[in-house]
Amino acid sequence: MIEFERATKRYADGTVAVDEFSAIVPARSTTVLLGSSGSGKTTLLRMVNRMVEPTSGRVLIDDVDVATVDPVKLRRSIGYVMQNGGLLPHRRVIENIATVPRLTGVDRATAHDRALELMNLVDLDRSLARRYPHQLSGGQQQRVGVARALAADPNILLMDEPFGAVDPLVRGDLQQWLLGLQRELGKTVVFVTHDVSEALLLGDQIIVLEPGAHIAQQGTGRDILTRPANDFVRQFVGLDAGERQLHAEQVDGQTLLLDRHGRPAGLLA
Ligand code: ADP
Ligand code: MG
Repeated sequence: MIEFERATKRYADGTVAVDEFSAIVPARSTTVLLGSSGSGKTTLLRMVNRMVEPTSGRVLIDDVDVATVDPVKLRRSIGYVMQNGGLLPHRRVIENIATVPRLTGVDRATAHDRALELMNLVDLDRSLARRYPHQLSGGQQQRVGVARALAADPNILLMDEPFGAVDPLVRGDLQQWLLGLQRELGKTVVFVTHDVSEALLLGDQIIVLEPGAHIAQQGTGRDILTRPANDFVRQFVGLDAGERQLHAEQVDGQTLLLDRHGRPAGLLA
């Protein structure tokens, strides 16, 4: 469990990126931080692994204040998928994945064997192991980033818009793959996105953020769609514009769901 207690971050230039944010991220489920660019999502994530130190307030992992934990140890125990991949460009895929185990003293052969296993886990063909990041597609790079984050077998996985840079088809694949992985491994995942559909798909819990990481609403996707807390949430998730509204039509004995433009969205089972 991760607990934010009135966590606040004021950067040197005076910007208050996160203003007294308090929330609980339950273990072994996915919490999505959903907000527009600049709402403080990345800052919140980085307060968990001490890449950002709160100006005031605390972040606790299983009741231990992270400020009391050695930052290097802490970072090696938490998987972090950075917003722009963060792969080392001059290191081969296998070395990128094995980075943390190597730093913690695992020998090269063992770390590489484990990295190959992780490539299987994230559905990356082993033939890609010797390539450099720029020789991979966007979707493959994202998978390498996830494999690297999983390499030390952390209980906590921080994912900062991990599927932002790939086309919608690949993105859908990666999302389904993450859902499957989460069912299998049961990590405590904090997933950052500005994409409402992604949040609804992946989040056991969704925290909708306004600037300053002020919580507009916290709940399940179901709560947010059926009981939006305020106009900000209604607008953000597209309820205002009717973007989330579907209607049904009978076609040849089947119930077809259509979006507000009359485009087919799926069939009712
Ligand atoms: P998000 O990830 O939701 O886009 P960030 O946490 O990156 O939001 O940023 C929140 C706010 O803090 C923004 O206004 C951003 O410009 C500002 N900010 C982020 N990092 C820094 C920094 N190192 N120095 C000053 N301001 C920053
Ligand atoms: Mg960000």
